[in-house]
Amino acid sequence: MSFTLHGLGVSSGIAIGRVLLLSHVTVDVVRLALSPRQIEKEIARLDAAIAAVREELAHLKETTGEYAPSELLAFIDLHTMFLNDPEFTEAPRNIIREKLCNAEWALVQQMEHLVRQFELFEDTYLRERKFDVVQVVERLVKELLGHPGRASLRKAKASAPAENLVVVAHDLSPADVIAFKDRRFAAFATDVGGATSHTAILSRSMAIPAIVGIRNARFLIREDETVIVDGTRGVVIVDPDERILEEYRIRREQIELERSKLKRLKSAPAETIDGISISLLANIEVPDDARAALESGAQGVGLFRSEFLYLGRGDMPTEDEQFEAYRKVARIMGEKPVTIRTFDLGGDKEIDMQRTKTNPSLGRRAIRLSLANPPMFLTQLRAILRASRYGRMRLLIPMLSHAHQIDSMLAMVEQAKESLRDEKIAHDERIEVGGMIEIPGAALAINMFLKRLRFLSIGTNDLIQYTLAIDRTDEQVANLYDPLHPAVVMLIAHAIASAEKAGIPISVCGEMAGAAKFTRLLLGMGLRAFSMHPAQILEIKSRIIQSDVSELIPLTRRILRLEETGKIKEAVDRLNERVAAQ
Ligand code: PEP
Ligand code: MG
Repeated sequence: MSFTLHGLGVSSGIAIGRVLLLSHVTVDVVRLALSPRQIEKEIARLDAAIAAVREELAHLKETTGEYAPSELLAFIDLHTMFLNDPEFTEAPRNIIREKLCNAEWALVQQMEHLVRQFELFEDTYLRERKFDVVQVVERLVKELLGHPGRASLRKAKASAPAENLVVVAHDLSPADVIAFKDRRFAAFATDVGGATSHTAILSRSMAIPAIVGIRNARFLIREDETVIVDGTRGVVIVDPDERILEEYRIRREQIELERSKLKRLKSAPAETIDGISISLLANIEVPDDARAALESGAQGVGLFRSEFLYLGRGDMPTEDEQFEAYRKVARIMGEKPVTIRTFDLGGDKEIDMQRTKTNPSLGRRAIRLSLANPPMFLTQLRAILRASRYGRMRLLIPMLSHAHQIDSMLAMVEQAKESLRDEKIAHDERIEVGGMIEIPGAALAINMFLKRLRFLSIGTNDLIQYTLAIDRTDEQVANLYDPLHPAVVMLIAHAIASAEKAGIPISVCGEMAGAAKFTRLLLGMGLRAFSMHPAQILEIKSRIIQSDVSELIPLTRRILRLEETGKIKEAVDRLNERVAAQ
């Protein structure tokens, strides 16, 4: 039966494909050997998890309300029934007793046994209930492990071909998605996540449609089902009929046609009607992305999120490994500038030591972590400096807020250079060092940055998160994540105007730079450098060449006096209509 689910469309476009349901916990369960003394405690753990999941389901039923799809309520009832069945309560207890093992492992053993039983049913409906068994066990294991778990790539890696597969998961970590980079999936759909979570960013960088925050995607969507993912509108249509499929095939073709038309702009200069030249740069996550940057006509790399070298593997890359990665980007980009951002680890790009923190985005993240770990930071600085002789490297530092951080960081850059000089290793002595403006305090007190740094880049993703106190990864507050909130607009305008006055180059490298609806506003504020995913460059260029900055400046000034988001939105819409009218 066909039905539609709604979420937050974070990467536009349309995909039609079969569902690959990713398990996020059960496949990673390991067997632990317990002593007989520990058994009763382990059984109590199991019982507590069953009770907690029962409660969770009851709560879900209560809160989904009368508008919930009837399938959802039926699934909740079925799962609750399973939880009361001895196959889920008694059987794992017996396994724990007999095998002296942990509750998670006992549950997975029982799950596999039950799945085999369900597979024997001839009736399709009954046979498919094995997915419910898996989902219930996943909920229990998740509860036992005490964290939401991660999608498992093993299954994704094993299945092929990827082009027709829509990955449906509870969540994808940035590391998961990076591992997907070598497979071209049709789309992603996840239960949780916000508009500028790194999962969302990566889907945009891969130019595949993605929807996050669907809440019950994994609950309602079945393995192998056909789905349409409309990333532009944020809807997933499950099991569509032929008429709907045909309609979406036509829309998909239209989008492809628009994209291919834009390709003609690749070598056109990014220049406004009144002759102002705009720099369009690329954001990249892995060295190979630099090829896509070149293909899109980018004038350089404005942001290389170097932490993905770590996220793609889970341990710190050595100096030589980093050097190779940075040199590769430099070589691909040739004469064009390459801006390497030092590790922005912590926050949602979690590393082990951050997991225990309740508020990692406000914790020891990015430069804070780098300064707290001098050997790690020096290793990275040396690697970047060593690679700097192979191209035009720039060094960008994330999450700076205090003058003393800038001073300590610059002292460490000097220390790294000195060690290379001692070892007679060639590097660019005059490498430019810049900082990200992504903390409201930094945007307000920007003069201390302007005095110490050679260039700046505004990270709107974090700037919005911190200005409005909205966790960028949390779908429950995603509706409040608003780039056109007057406070955000004021901070960006202030940063751009201050940098211009001081003669320090400034760019925007957050997601706002790649969204055409903000291009004219940013141009009107005085922005002359935009850094975005390669896939967005041509659309932004098309917007730029239809804009007249001399006309935009007075209109933007008026927008900056507006006090409410609604009014700002209307005014920005009017700016954009003028584009359409030209
Ligand atoms: C930003 O915060 O806008 C940014 C570009 O950095 P990241 O998204 O990697 O935090
Ligand atoms: Mg950031």
